[in-house]
Amino acid sequence: MKKFDVIIIGGGASGLMCAISAKTNHPNISVAVLEKNPRVGKKLLSTGNGRCNLTNQNISSQKYCGSFKKQSKFIFSKYNTNEIISVFKKLGLMTYCDNDGRYYPVCRQASAVLDVLRFACDRFNINVFCEENIKSVKKVDKNFDIKTDKDTFTAKKLVIACGSKAAPKLGGNSSCADYLKNFGHTFVPFSPALCPIKVKSDILKSLKCLRAIGKATLADGHNNSLKEEFGEIQFNDNALSGICIFNLSLYSKKNYIIKLDLMPNISEEELIKILLQNQKLFGNIEIDNLMTGILQKRLSQAILKQSNIKDFSRLCNTLSEQEIARAAHTVKNLDFVIIENSGFEQAQAARGGVAGNEIDEKTMKSKIVKNLYVCGEAVDICGECGGFNLHFAFASGMIAGENL
Ligand SMILES: Cc1cc2nc3c(=O)[nH]c(=O)nc-3n(C[C@H](O)[C@H](O)[C@H](O)COP(=O)(O)OP(=O)(O)OC[C@H]3O[C@@H](n4cnc5c(N)ncnc54)[C@H](O)[C@@H]3O)c2cc1C
Repeated sequence: MKKFDVIIIGGGASGLMCAISAKTNHPNISVAVLEKNPRVGKKLLSTGNGRCNLTNQNISSQKYCGSFKKQSKFIFSKYNTNEIISVFKKLGLMTYCDNDGRYYPVCRQASAVLDVLRFACDRFNINVFCEENIKSVKKVDKNFDIKTDKDTFTAKKLVIACGSKAAPKLGGNSSCADYLKNFGHTFVPFSPALCPIKVKSDILKSLKCLRAIGKATLADGHNNSLKEEFGEIQFNDNALSGICIFNLSLYSKKNYIIKLDLMPNISEEELIKILLQNQKLFGNIEIDNLMTGILQKRLSQAILKQSNIKDFSRLCNTLSEQEIARAAHTVKNLDFVIIENSGFEQAQAARGGVAGNEIDEKTMKSKIVKNLYVCGEAVDICGECGGFNLHFAFASGMIAGENL
């Protein structure tokens, strides 16, 4: 049996940072990380398209959802952007901030972030065990006993840092839910987030692979706007995608609506005037050219169809003013009814995790089981795209580590 003061399950962003923080703050304790993959940090390597967007200039609990959202204020006041940047600087990583406030390593390589974490683990003599397939996690008297298919481990303190179900190919799974539920915790089931959203639509197939810039608004069943995003919208076979859609996926529900405004910088009235002018200019040309110079042709065709103008053999000068007004309205109000978020395979994160009110944010300790800690995506909090999830993983890992 291998004995340690602390065992951390999960060698990802939060687990590695927790181990480093534990040894920085308590140099004499023995720390082990148990990782099921052959190497630690596989997901980290894929973050930010291989560049790792590790934090953001605008960290605030407003950028997150989940039952831990309110408590996260404490975490972000203690570990704000500058703190995270400075922790990484001390580990040897230089970062830069892009024009949208997203921080990356200066070398633009996610592997650099993982490497500085791995090197620190080596320097601090943190025991990292890979390819550990955990069979059981139990509290026996005052200790936590963990059986894997190779060995048995025991520790006085246990940290659950094994992430969420998002991206199963990179190690995502729901094992933390099993462990935490067995310990008596309430667990909000994981659901995919930061992913494309599947929608009902007759026009989507014709728009496959098309990208457009616009405003995307999420509205509930009563047409109340819940969240607005600007940016590139990608049209897939059966889903909408792109960073702004990913951000809406944090709050989406079946039968909610995604409203696209494909000309957000001009009013509907102005757009009508422009289309009337185009009608004069393109009078003897087929109607699917009406929006030439404004929208891509496939998108114009879809807009016309959606506006119930379906005969593309007609010429622009045959369109009535009402038809032009209808087309302009559709450009500014292209609505899609949500079916569901795409699956975990396409998700960068997951909603759900251990219930926020069962974790003390000042220490990341369980309020239910003594000497049990939870950090990272295993907690019920999920942030927007832009470095928010890694920031929470690192910050919560550091808080757990210093309070061990
Ligand atoms: C493609 C992609 C891109 C992303 N890009 C960004 C980005 O640029 N910026 C950002 O902020 N966030 C990004 N994210 C999200 C971010 O990666 C996660 O939020 C973050 O890694 C969560 O940290 P974690 O420590 O909780 O989990 P993870 O980093 O997933 O670590 C969990 C670790 O535990 C291991 N594990 C799981 N179960 C067990 C078990 N039973 N026993 C032992 N080990 C186990 C896993 O193999 C893994 O190594 C991205 C995610 C994906 C999928």
